Amino acid sequence: MSDGCSCSEIVLLMGPPGAGKGTQADILVKARALRKLSTGDMLRDHVQRGTELGKQAKAVMDAGDLVSDDLIVAMVKSELESMQVIRVLLDGFPRTTAQAKELDKLLSELSVDIDSAVLIEVDEDELVARLLNRAKELGRTDDNEETIRNRMKVYQDLTKPLVDYYQNQDKLTAVNGLGTVEEVSKSIFEVLS
Ligand code: AMP
Repeated sequence: MSDGCSCSEIVLLMGPPGAGKGTQADILVKARALRKLSTGDMLRDHVQRGTELGKQAKAVMDAGDLVSDDLIVAMVKSELESMQVIRVLLDGFPRTTAQAKELDKLLSELSVDIDSAVLIEVDEDELVARLLNRAKELGRTDDNEETIRNRMKVYQDLTKPLVDYYQNQDKLTAVNGLGTVEEVSKSIFEVLS
């Protein structure tokens, strides 16, 4: 797709916590003129602003659990519905099969479809090491060891089934998430080209 095209494009960036989704999302949105929709960022913004939603979400996030599907879907829905041309990179959404089904429904109402789901694969030992390091650097309150362990479990139990979900739709491509930031983004660009 050439720069400046006003066609819709929807890319999902998937992977376990610590796989580098946020970093890669920032690179991708610039390169492909997409808007990043990160449900984690949106929730952290609510927490920071002290909104009612933020107050509800904070304890759940700090424990490494998932915020309710209804709340998350409503948040994403209002963003997508407000766009004239949908060119988005979804980071950290969907995270459950229920969210994925709601997203499919919403996109079909909007007459658009997911172009690609990219899975960044990294093994678990490396992930925990990265998250503990991020905890030190950024001071995120959900990056302590207990929460990290829970977030991994939540990923395995609730989010990993989405790999099959998108594989069955023929939309999923896995890339190796070990390597430099540049190496990983090169692999992702190859998938999207
Ligand atoms: P993230 O920055 O994507 O790792 O998200 C941080 C936290 O926000 C997660 O551990 C969840 O508590 C919550 N969260 C973010 N996205 C979702 C989602 N799609 N569904 C449920 N909870 C979410």
